[in-house]
Amino acid sequence: MERVELTSARAANRSFLERVERQSGVQVEDCYQCGKCSAGCPLAFAMDYTPHQIMRMLQLGLGEEAMKSHTVWLCSGCETCVTRCPREVDVPRVMDVLRMEAKRAGVVKEKAVDIFYNLFLDSVRKNGRVHEMMLAAWFNLRSGQLFKDVLLAPVMFLKGKISPFPQKAAPDAVQRIFAKAQVWAGGEKH
Ligand code: SF4
Ligand code: SF4
Repeated sequence: MERVELTSARAANRSFLERVERQSGVQVEDCYQCGKCSAGCPLAFAMDYTPHQIMRMLQLGLGEEAMKSHTVWLCSGCETCVTRCPREVDVPRVMDVLRMEAKRAGVVKEKAVDIFYNLFLDSVRKNGRVHEMMLAAWFNLRSGQLFKDVLLAPVMFLKGKISPFPQKAAPDAVQRIFAKAQVWAGGEKH
């Protein structure tokens, strides 16, 4: 990372921080950098910045650098960090907002994760729950890994773990939830 003058960076990025705080409902200053979130995060080993480093970057006016990290795409939303945090800082909600900001800014660092998210949400939007077989097929197609795990499909099919037909679960109600979420997020598709 290039050298940064923190006082001016903090002032210049105030609006970014305010946007993240407003959308996530998290007060970033609540984090006092104890590091318990990072110590418990099951994916910290794969991240370029650990969760508490992301929080510190936001505090210091380096939110746009945080937004451009691989970390925001690798966070699985497992909530281990929130459970461990003595300040109840909702780190995954911050990660959600940073992902949305990254999409708006066109700086998606993990294309496969983004493809998976979009397909997963589309499947839930249409059926009220995910249709695993179509999700896997579309993911392979869109990510250019046509034959990934294809040998597992017949076994899973015979064991009844996947089906060519989607099971629906109140799709109308789920679509209403999606519509509300879209309005909340500014009308954009995520
Ligand atoms: S556990 Fe909470 S307070 Fe501690 S570093 Fe992580 S977010 Fe900050
Ligand atoms: S929600 Fe994300 S940041 Fe928090 S522990 Fe899970 S993977 Fe790590």
